[in-house]
Amino acid sequence: MSREERDFYKRPEDEQQEFLTNTWCNECMEANLGMKDPQEYVQDKAVFIEGKCNRCGMSIVTELTDENF
Ligand SMILES: [Zn+2]
Repeated sequence: MSREERDFYKRPEDEQQEFLTNTWCNECMEANLGMKDPQEYVQDKAVFIEGKCNRCGMSIVTELTDENF
């Protein structure tokens, strides 16, 4: 499946903050620990924002399915 990179930092500041703070980590089993190094890409008609958990460093992927293309 092809993957198209997007620039996360083109999002409005408040949206960026929201994505970076409203997280769920499968390792820590805890919400809102925050993440760093966000990368955004489009794959299979969904938008993904991937970053690293602020506590454990495992990768966290947020999938956005309600986005318009
Ligand atoms: Zn974690």
